Amino acid sequence: MRCHLVKSEQQWKEEKSCENCPFLEERELSVMEFTTQHIEGVCAITEPSESWLAKYLNTNNFIPGIYCIRVKLLFSQDIIESL
Ligand SMILES: [Zn+2]
Repeated sequence: MRCHLVKSEQQWKEEKSCENCPFLEERELSVMEFTTQHIEGVCAITEPSESWLAKYLNTNNFIPGIYCIRVKLLFSQDIIESL
C-alpha cells in the first residue's frame, strides 16, 4: 500500500515482503496488514528513474514493476500511528 507496488496474492504469500518497504517486514506486520485489494488504475514502470509517471507517483527510487495509481483504502489507524 505504502509504495503502490502491485503483486499477485500468490506473490505476496510467497515473498511476504515489499522490495520497496523492507521496514514493514522488520516490524513483523502480516502481508494482510500492509496490502489492499482496493486500488485504482495500474501501470507498468520499467525504468523508475526515467519515468514521468514514477516521478508523479513518487516511486522513482523504487524497483521496476507494476504500480497502482491510487490506493482507495489506506492503512488502519493503528498502523498509521505506528509508522
Ligand atoms: Zn512497498
